[in-house]
Amino acid sequence: MNESQAVELESHATIELRGNVPTRHALPSDVYFAFPSGRFAYDCIRCGAQCCCGYEYLIGGDVAAHVALRPHLSLFVHPNERRQQTRVGNCPPACFFLNDQGMCGIHVEHGYDSKPETCRLFPFNNLRMLGRYVVVAPHSSLCPLEVTPSDVLDDKSDHNALFASMASQGIDAEVPLVTVHGVDIDDLILLERRVTALAARCDESKGYFDFARAQLDETARSLPASSHTGPVVVEPNSAMDEFRSHLSSLLGLSPSELDEAPSEITRTMVVATPFLRSMLLMEFKGRRQQALDSTLAPVQVPFALTTLYVIAVLAGRAGMSEITFQTVARLFRDFLPLLYLTAHLNSVVRLRRAAKITLAVSGMGEWQLEYLRLLKAIVSQRDGEDALRLGALLREQLPHSGRLTFLKVLAGQLHGKIYDVETKDNTRTGVVDSLKNRAVRLLIGAVEEDLLVSAITRRQAKRGGQRS
Ligand code: SF4
Repeated sequence: MNESQAVELESHATIELRGNVPTRHALPSDVYFAFPSGRFAYDCIRCGAQCCCGYEYLIGGDVAAHVALRPHLSLFVHPNERRQQTRVGNCPPACFFLNDQGMCGIHVEHGYDSKPETCRLFPFNNLRMLGRYVVVAPHSSLCPLEVTPSDVLDDKSDHNALFASMASQGIDAEVPLVTVHGVDIDDLILLERRVTALAARCDESKGYFDFARAQLDETARSLPASSHTGPVVVEPNSAMDEFRSHLSSLLGLSPSELDEAPSEITRTMVVATPFLRSMLLMEFKGRRQQALDSTLAPVQVPFALTTLYVIAVLAGRAGMSEITFQTVARLFRDFLPLLYLTAHLNSVVRLRRAAKITLAVSGMGEWQLEYLRLLKAIVSQRDGEDALRLGALLREQLPHSGRLTFLKVLAGQLHGKIYDVETKDNTRTGVVDSLKNRAVRLLIGAVEEDLLVSAITRRQAKRGGQRS
């Protein structure tokens, strides 16, 4: 599927989104599939129908017809009028309808179209609404999706088939709204379609760094500097070389070691990339933590995903027998703060106005001093040629022992609290918080770290004493 993916779909059909108010109709050109067409496969019998083992499902309009399938089912039905959908409370170990052969009894006896909405769409039921676009992505945890080689396409993840299925019955569940920052939605969707096309035809033998460079090239081509407010990469090759040098140094690997990965891992990461990009670029409306903007700019995303690729390679070296789509989706969730931190390695960073900086870091006793030194270095950055990029700062300041653990903890501490000086800090804070935050920054900048450490240690000892 390429950037014209929407045009290939049947142009006369629409998807009726009845769960959203007001009801919307999505044309083929309004649907963005965040994965290459046909590149995911699954086998319900082999997986033991894990998705049917104890998880509730949603049914749409014709509740009576569904309840009529089993006389006592009405006891387990929970209506939700606002969302025009009905939840059926399945319990472990398996759904009311899962038969002895591990197949859906409704599907077998009444056909695919009679299945509940959740089950018809699954595992491509991760839907989000971005402006006029419906973003369709795979479920990332329950279904053990397999990534097919580029010359083997599976009908189950074919974009045309999925669109036809959604169009034939519409969607009753409310599709959650997402938003993006600093970039026009149409421009971003165009970029994402082009990256998905790159993923579909990517030669994985060239490795993920090559694919990350291609994403950077495409970003520069699709999003000229004038069309967004984020940082700009002028020279993708040198930017990726600089990033690679920082990353290998931080992880204690030689740059060439980063390339030595089985091609299956590269393939899995390439096919997962459009989905992962959508997770990094799109933010659920109304769920912003502490009003901090923690989404990445499009140009930073290939760096974050290259870090994830390296983490997946290291998981393989640490003994994982297989790196699947589920593996990278899980690593993505577990290492999200580290991905954000490393996305800034090539940048000079500042602390956000609204960020509450904690001086004492629990669980980091032996690294307290190093942590404060790093904060001090970030706070003391001045504009101009002397300013150090985050990668260089970390290379100078990371402790020698336990540096990877320190890096992970540090990433958690700074998550959502730093921004690239090339972009605008658009976070908001109240007057009192703003004054407090400024005072903490002044304190960090003015007081020697040793003094701060002993003050923190005394305070912690006093608190410990009070508790005991
Ligand atoms: S209704 Fe069918 S597909 Fe849905 S959970 Fe039950 S057995 Fe699985």
